Amino acid sequence: GDGNAKHDKGVNVQVLLRCRPLSEDEMRVNTPVVISCNEHRREVSAIQNIANKQIDRTFAFDKVFGPTSLQKDLYDQAVSPIVIEVLEGYNCTIFAYGQTGTGKTYTMEGGGRKSKNGDLPSDAGVIPRAVGQIFDILEAQNSEYSVKVTFLELYNEEITDLLAPEECTKFIDDKSKKPIALMEDGKGGVFVRGLEEEIVCTANEIYKILEKGSAKRRTAETLLNKQSSRSHSIFSITIHIKECTPEGEEMIKCGKLNLVDLAGSENISRSGAREGRAREAGEINKSLLTLGRVINALVEHSGHVPYRDSKLTRLLRDSLGGKTKTCIIATISPSIHCLEETLSTLDYAHRAK
Ligand code: ADP
Ligand code: MG
Repeated sequence: GDGNAKHDKGVNVQVLLRCRPLSEDEMRVNTPVVISCNEHRREVSAIQNIANKQIDRTFAFDKVFGPTSLQKDLYDQAVSPIVIEVLEGYNCTIFAYGQTGTGKTYTMEGGGRKSKNGDLPSDAGVIPRAVGQIFDILEAQNSEYSVKVTFLELYNEEITDLLAPEECTKFIDDKSKKPIALMEDGKGGVFVRGLEEEIVCTANEIYKILEKGSAKRRTAETLLNKQSSRSHSIFSITIHIKECTPEGEEMIKCGKLNLVDLAGSENISRSGAREGRAREAGEINKSLLTLGRVINALVEHSGHVPYRDSKLTRLLRDSLGGKTKTCIIATISPSIHCLEETLSTLDYAHRAK
C-alpha cells in the first residue's frame, strides 16, 4: 500500500485523517455538516455553499476514517502494523493532532466505558489496545522481555510526571511544585531526570497506570480551566526482548512506542483573536510549532532538523527521523462551526505528507 511506497523512499511519516460524528447536542440543533469522507478513495472534502462564500476543497491522505469508523478499525488498520515494527526494534511515534474537541483523547485513550471481565471495551483507544497487543505477542513468544512505561505531560515547556506520587503534582499546589528537568545524556539523546519509570509485567498493570495518569490529567484540567487543550501528553512504552541468533548468540532488541496526545491545534492557528489569547497565556505553543517544522524537515530531507527548539521534539528525538516510523492521526469535526479550524488542520496534515 501507500505506507510501503513511502517506506521505500525512506520517508516514514504516514498521515491519517479521522472525522468524528456530530455530538448529540449538535444533532439536536441540526448543525450542518460540511465534511464528507471517502474512505475508499482516501479523500476528505470540505464543502460549503453559502451565497457569497463557496468552499469546495478535497484532500488526500494515507488513510481516512469517517464518522462511523470504530476504534477497533482504526487500530487494526493503522496502529497494529506499527506495534509489530516496535517489537522488531523500531522506535515509533503516533501523534493525535487537531482542534480541541475533535477526538484526540478519544482516539488515543478512548471513551469512558469500563472493561468487563478484563476485555477491552469497544470504545478503548489506541493506548490500551497497543498495550494489549504488545503483551499478547510477548506472552506468546518464548523469549525473555521487559516492558517499561512513562507517562508525562508537557505544558508551557514544563514537564509534569503523570505517574509520580500525588505530592509531586504541581497542579494541585504550586508550593510543592517540583520541576522535572530534561537532561542531555551525552550520547545525543535526552532523559528526564526524576521521571517515574514503571516496570510492568502484564497488560492489566498498564491499564491501571494509564487510568491513574489520565485521572491526574483530568484533575489538572478541572483545576486549571481547560489547561489540557494547551498541553501535550506522552505515553511511552519501551520494550527489551532477549533473543538468540541461529548461531546461539544472545542479543537484545529494543523498541519504543510513543503515543502523543498533542495540544489543540487552535493553539497555533493564525486567527488574530486566538493568537492574542495565546500570547497572553505566555507563548504560542512552541512545541507544537517546532514539531511541525521538524516533520517538514524530515519529509523534505532538508539538512537541518530543529529538534533542539522545543521540549517535545527533544523528548522524541530518538523516535523521529532515522530508523523510525511516525504516524499522525489528524482529527476533525464535521460541523460547519469548526470549518475554519478544520481547513487549517487539513492543510497542516496534508503538508506533513
Ligand atoms: P480532544 O481530545 O481532541 O479535545 P475529545 O477526545 O475529548 O477531543 O472528544 C470530544 C468529545 O467528542 C468527547 O465527548 C468524545 O467522547 C467525543 N468523540 C470524539 N471522537 C469521537 C468518535 N470518533 N466517536 C464518538 N465520539 C467521539
Ligand atoms: Mg483531549
